[in-house]
Amino acid sequence: MERVRAHVPRPGSARPRGRHARPRRWLDRRRRRGDRVLGARPRLQPRHRARCLHGARARQSRAAHAADLPAHGARTLDARGHRDARQVTIAPPLPQRTPESAPFWDGCAQEELRLQRCASGHWWFPPGRQCPECWSADWRWERASGRGTVFSFVVFQRSYHPAFREALPYAVAVIALAEGPRFLSRVVEIAPDQVRVGMPVAVTFEDVAGTKLPLFRRA
Ligand SMILES: [Zn+2]
Repeated sequence: MERVRAHVPRPGSARPRGRHARPRRWLDRRRRRGDRVLGARPRLQPRHRARCLHGARARQSRAAHAADLPAHGARTLDARGHRDARQVTIAPPLPQRTPESAPFWDGCAQEELRLQRCASGHWWFPPGRQCPECWSADWRWERASGRGTVFSFVVFQRSYHPAFREALPYAVAVIALAEGPRFLSRVVEIAPDQVRVGMPVAVTFEDVAGTKLPLFRRA
């Protein structure tokens, strides 16, 4: 196989090659002349791309730092047209529809918990193209009971996303659905310290930015 050289000649003049080549004086000369330097590319990544955000925030106003500004979200303006960090609204992360999961989210929109079920009666979740039990491709979406029990849970005491800060503390649980599959969700309408393993729960739907999310409450 022919070896392909990594070096791509740039137009204009002779170019140094390799990392130990002489300094690129041709580039300095052309920059001094004010030429637009063809082929000179800016660095692809900033030098400190992984720096902790809090350092950058500290250099901003104290209020902005306190608000723990997210990377995105609609910002509101105060009467003088200044950004008011205290009124930042943060878009929560929402599920991504895929061809496999679209029927599930369509069911949620109608406040139905739908799962796939094969001709042999196996239910499963998350969505897939074949039954994970018998590999059957003969299946369909069916409405599940929406009932189950708390199999395991954790209580979040700190926010890992600004959109969830107001909800703290909250319980995230693995729900053992009555049909068999396990389902990761939040347990709501109950103090997190009241959640217990084995507690019967039922699905409830919460509209978050136009998407209905299946959550669970004590049954
Ligand atoms: Zn099956």
